[in-house]
Amino acid sequence: MTEIAANYHQVLECIAQAAHRSGRNPEQIQIVAVSKMHPASAVVQAYDAGLVHIGESKVREAEDKFTLLFQSHPDIKIVKHLIGHLQTNKVKTALHIFDLIHSVDSLHLGKALSAETVKAGIQANILVQVNTSGEISKFGVIPEQAIDLTAELSQLPGLNIQGLMTIGAFLPEPEQVRPCFVTLRQLSENIAALRLDNVEMKYLSMGMTGDFEIAIEEGANLLRIGTALFGERNPAL
Ligand SMILES: *Cc1c(COP(=O)(O)O)cnc(C)c1O
Repeated sequence: MTEIAANYHQVLECIAQAAHRSGRNPEQIQIVAVSKMHPASAVVQAYDAGLVHIGESKVREAEDKFTLLFQSHPDIKIVKHLIGHLQTNKVKTALHIFDLIHSVDSLHLGKALSAETVKAGIQANILVQVNTSGEISKFGVIPEQAIDLTAELSQLPGLNIQGLMTIGAFLPEPEQVRPCFVTLRQLSENIAALRLDNVEMKYLSMGMTGDFEIAIEEGANLLRIGTALFGERNPAL
């Protein structure tokens, strides 16, 4: 077994326990394996271990990595997630690379995505990123504006809004991050109740290596996990 496969099994065990504690079905919780700053070969190992959802933070890095990956493994079937900030000048590339974009946090970006989908005759699957921690270093719409932004985005052609995403506060104790996840879940429930066109609150993307068990307890069904699967990142990549 590769180290990544062993790590994956350990993470699955933690997910099962957290799901059990909170009365949830672990099969309804997906892992997005975050391979940023890890090579294409790590993605292959993750895939061989059974991970199919792959997350990347940067469009350029992902483009290069996936090109290499598909050259060496043309039959690989992964679902590609953009989890990092998206600049409008990378929208076109991002739309062609990624299956789900987790980081839509402004009407400006939504309009750029929408325009590109119309031009290309495609649809974009997106999540609205919410800054639930109040940390100014983080992207995301503030919680007070998340419902209005979602309603505005829902009016734009070509966008399928499939849920919400947040990055929990960077705090030493996972338990301290819980309020961020509660905020996201409540927003998701409030938005679902509005029954907006093109909006389906099916994904709650929250929880990373340090806090995914708390996120599960608060309803997460897409966990973005890097370090616990791949080990420490290599900033030189
Ligand atoms: C890097 C990253 C992750 C994964 O972080 P780990 O702590 O390594 O699990 C998750 N979400 C986002 C948005 C990230 O940038």
